[in-house]
Amino acid sequence: MSAPDPSLLSLNTVTVKRQWNLAQAIDGCARHGIRGISAWRDQVAEMGIKNAVSSIRKHGLTVTGLCRGGFFTSKDWLDDNRRAIEEAHELQAQCLVLVVGGLPSGSKDLMAARRQIKDSIQAILPEARKAGVPLAIEPLHPMQAADRACVNTLEHALDLCDALGEDERSAQGALGVAVDVYHVWWDPKLEAQVKRAGKKRLLAYHICDWRVPTRDLLNDRAMMGDGVIDLPKIRAWVEGAGYTGFHEVEIFSELDWWKRDPDEVLATCKERHARCT
Ligand code: ZN
Repeated sequence: MSAPDPSLLSLNTVTVKRQWNLAQAIDGCARHGIRGISAWRDQVAEMGIKNAVSSIRKHGLTVTGLCRGGFFTSKDWLDDNRRAIEEAHELQAQCLVLVVGGLPSGSKDLMAARRQIKDSIQAILPEARKAGVPLAIEPLHPMQAADRACVNTLEHALDLCDALGEDERSAQGALGVAVDVYHVWWDPKLEAQVKRAGKKRLLAYHICDWRVPTRDLLNDRAMMGDGVIDLPKIRAWVEGAGYTGFHEVEIFSELDWWKRDPDEVLATCKERHARCT
């Protein structure tokens, strides 16, 4: 496996969210020669979307995703997803990442939650298509099924894409998936499902590593190379399926990377992307 193209590195701003606001993260990417950025909506709101758009354009960065839409099992899902689609459109984001939501509070009805998720994606899909915003369903590790997303495998996400159809007019599908290695690395069907997704449905590729032991279900992701995920192998599968997009570093790390000098974090992302992925 040859080394990854360094120009395909993207920074998900959550990786330095404790240290930097969005304006600082944009400047940081520019300074470190990182060409892609993926932003979170609360940070965009804080900066102001007009300012965010102009700063991103000024530095010539590609917005590899907007995080996030989804949470279809919560009460205000429709308005919230409409706003998310508008924001993704304004930012010219390559996709709106959907973290689909878990069980409504008090419920044990997983089947109903999954039906609600499917119906909700179906409801917003026409608006997303009209706005030119591809929707990327991100399957989350099953440990997060209750509280964040009860779509937990790439196979399940692709079944949803199949069930909800796709826009035949566009080369890139209006509905696809975000493959985040943290969530799917363990899956015995991963290689086959990446192949099944193909170029059209692979809308985003998120990288980090799986720390052993994991000390927190959400906020203990490792830097590439510090864990047990065979990143070159998964990249080979993803690129073999036709994906040519960015490799987005997304690290939630309460105990380590959120405590470090953010310039050190970005420098390490670049070095590890080149050496370990
Ligand atoms: Zn992700």
